[in-house]
Amino acid sequence: MTEQEYLAQRVAVLDAAALDTRAVRSGQRRTAEGEHSEPIFTTSSYVFASASEAAARFSGEQPGNVYSRYTNPTVRTFEERIAALEGAEMGVATASGMAAILSTCMALLKTGDHIVCSRSVFGTTTVLLTKFLGKVGIRTTFVDLVDPEAWQAAIGEDTRLLFLETPSNPLSEVADIRALADIAHKHNCLLVVDNCFCTPALQLPLALGADIVVHSATKYLDGQGRCVGGAVVGRREHMDEVLAFIRTAGPSMSPFNAWVFLKGLETLRLRMMAHSASALALAQWLQTQSNIDKVHYSGLEDHPQHALAAAQQKAFGGVMSFEVRGDQAAAWRFIDATRLVSITANLGDAKTTIVHPATTTHGRLSPEQRAEAGIKDNLIRVAVGLEDIADLRADLQRGLDAV
Ligand SMILES: *Cc1c(COP(=O)(O)O)cnc(C)c1O
Repeated sequence: MTEQEYLAQRVAVLDAAALDTRAVRSGQRRTAEGEHSEPIFTTSSYVFASASEAAARFSGEQPGNVYSRYTNPTVRTFEERIAALEGAEMGVATASGMAAILSTCMALLKTGDHIVCSRSVFGTTTVLLTKFLGKVGIRTTFVDLVDPEAWQAAIGEDTRLLFLETPSNPLSEVADIRALADIAHKHNCLLVVDNCFCTPALQLPLALGADIVVHSATKYLDGQGRCVGGAVVGRREHMDEVLAFIRTAGPSMSPFNAWVFLKGLETLRLRMMAHSASALALAQWLQTQSNIDKVHYSGLEDHPQHALAAAQQKAFGGVMSFEVRGDQAAAWRFIDATRLVSITANLGDAKTTIVHPATTTHGRLSPEQRAEAGIKDNLIRVAVGLEDIADLRADLQRGLDAV
């Protein structure tokens, strides 16, 4: 058997394999050194055997590496692996989650185009769309994530793209991806889903009809809070454009970061199930506490989209939020009484984090905007990590006692 036949058989085996297997194996091509773990190619450029080969590579006539802003073997392995996990034809890695969103819009939209976006997306996404894409004449209308009629009503002649994040942060609202994909396609629009909170381990937006998935790899794909990065996956026709933008504008992923994300992907499903199990247990426990007014977590049976979340996701994720009895001061007392969890806005880490959204992540909104978004002054968000559940419960008990 030739080496090529062997490799083709390996690719066929992986294409048919389950998510856990693809998470560990997809995209890897061993070098002549026979390394077992994926190598990090820390090189900015590549050498050619001759002047004519250099010319052929530069013209695109011959495939292969030229410069790491265009392609890098470690980054390519990450791209192939995240695409394999999301069930996409092609993936493109980016320098950050924001670069993934910007690159998608720059590659696929032009001046005059219109976006319909969920009101409850990541705050910086809102700023990117309104301030910077607004500057080049791309307009955005914001609608309620869980109201398909509002999405339908906001679509106009120039609408090209629908953008959402589900479940939402910090209130854990869940959008019906299939229903919104149908609305998008009826109007010749693309549905783009930010799959940061579920990851492909818990939710596969492309299988539900979405056209493109974007990621902040910074969160659960890394899983240990080490690197900033992102990814865009989807059909080749769209990804070729995204890649062309990234090669030209330059928000490419560093090979070191790609390697960290690759290692993160190998344990992705195990971690996501553990984050989800702990979050559910803590949410159920908090719900029984007398100085908690409300717990927001789609895994709870009284959550308005619990049935949808149960059908659309394999588990409910690691992020939940709750309202303490009292005002902002009570919420701050809760946070300040903890001794184990980290007071930080980041999430998707083995380390549990706690934050007061109204004065941090949503602090730039006006009080009216916060009220409309349901971000109350007594709301606390916890992104549940991988510590022992009894220790986490004990730490949140310190918070409860201080309310
Ligand atoms: C963090 C985050 C982003 C932005 O990602 P960066 O890697 O920080 O640029 C985008 N979307 C969601 C849902 C996020 O949580």
